[in-house]
Amino acid sequence: MATNKLRRQTPQRAVIMEELCASKAHPTAAELFAQVRRRLPRISLGTVYRNLEVLHEDGQIRKLELAGSETRFDGTTTPHYHVRCRACGCVRDLPTPLHDKLVTMPMETGGFRIDGHRLEFHGLCPSCLGETEGVSGTAHSQH
Ligand SMILES: [Zn+2]
Ligand SMILES: [Zn+2]
Repeated sequence: MATNKLRRQTPQRAVIMEELCASKAHPTAAELFAQVRRRLPRISLGTVYRNLEVLHEDGQIRKLELAGSETRFDGTTTPHYHVRCRACGCVRDLPTPLHDKLVTMPMETGGFRIDGHRLEFHGLCPSCLGETEGVSGTAHSQH
């Protein structure tokens, strides 16, 4: 699906791309707008939206449309899994290897030819865990 004719890279788009790639937080368009505005004070939210669409169409970024949450953007385009904190809503990458067998194993597909899958993990992030369980006590790290 990749098209070879890359659009002209505007300075604004380059900044948006840089800020997105520098972030591990999978920001929403509004969050990214706040970041970008520190470098480009006159940019508008609409411009950020438009450029995110273009970058997405060009395959340079990923859109995360996770269950029940606002669209987030990801500068990492290689396939990877995400984990979402159900308390604060933050989204992080998981180092888990992809489970390719899920899509290649012969199974009942109801006539579909499966070419991908999407898995979303959820739980509590380290900082929310800290709040629930208290700082002192039972949590021990394994080294
Ligand atoms: Zn959290
Ligand atoms: Zn990611």
